[in-house]
Amino acid sequence: MATSLFPLDVPKALFHDLLVEPEEARSILRPQRDERYGFGFALSPYRGCGHGCRYCYVRDYPQPGHSPEQWGTWATPKLNAPELLWAQRHRLHRQAVFLASATDPYQPLEREFRLTRACLGVLLQCPTTRVLLHTRSPLVLQDLELLKAFGSRLTVGFSIPTDDDTVRQVVEPHAPPIPSRWAAMELLARGGVEVNLAACPLMPVRDPQAFAHRAKESGASGAWVGSLRLLKDDAFYEVLARNDWLFILDSDYQDRVAAVLQGTFPQTRRRREPKAAVPPPVQRPPFTAQRSLFE
Ligand code: SF4
Repeated sequence: MATSLFPLDVPKALFHDLLVEPEEARSILRPQRDERYGFGFALSPYRGCGHGCRYCYVRDYPQPGHSPEQWGTWATPKLNAPELLWAQRHRLHRQAVFLASATDPYQPLEREFRLTRACLGVLLQCPTTRVLLHTRSPLVLQDLELLKAFGSRLTVGFSIPTDDDTVRQVVEPHAPPIPSRWAAMELLARGGVEVNLAACPLMPVRDPQAFAHRAKESGASGAWVGSLRLLKDDAFYEVLARNDWLFILDSDYQDRVAAVLQGTFPQTRRRREPKAAVPPPVQRPPFTAQRSLFE
């Protein structure tokens, strides 16, 4: 594990309109104590994210050379991520690692760079380490055999925050369509990989009951509901207002969807973000289907 997997002088390049800026990272494991979800380190093989979700709070993290408005237009593969991880693997004894808190480990660049795959190869050799992997992309299937090799110490959380792909087209225009995520979830589960539904951050769900059934049918063994983290003066607030989706900020709405999911997945976890400093939600009716379900 001493040799570099990639040339160190990969230049800046465009990958399907994404500016790719490879780098040599200085560190790869970020301590991130999360008692509720049980992980102790976050591992991000990339900085930036080609999915560029419009609500992504990571866009506000300081990123040298990039403004928050440029989020989704660039990504930085950490070329030495597997080597750094190998050198740090002694820290992972009886620990859980989360891929990834600030990027999608299966964003489109992974097709070329295979850094997530190489990092998983290192983690596979850490027999007491548990792995939580979170993605929006069916690209995860390219590593199905590797994921299976982890057995019960790996869980994939598939992020499916809405049952409506027209909502996805507005909020995550560059992320894979919702039907492709259900299909990928099913293939993972059928392959023997433990997979959970991550309705996170929760967006409009037209039919929570059908949503829960779809997750069950697709092989999910658990669910996780998380609320949206809005930044101060977040432009995404306007996106919600324009589309009459401000109701997703109401904890009542989030609780109701979580309760329906709990009917199917009793261990459904609910994560609340601190309230952001935004104007008070305008009271507008949610989707008709939702009202009839909840009233
Ligand atoms: S996939 Fe995750 S990290 Fe990437 S832009 Fe979307 S929310 Fe942010």
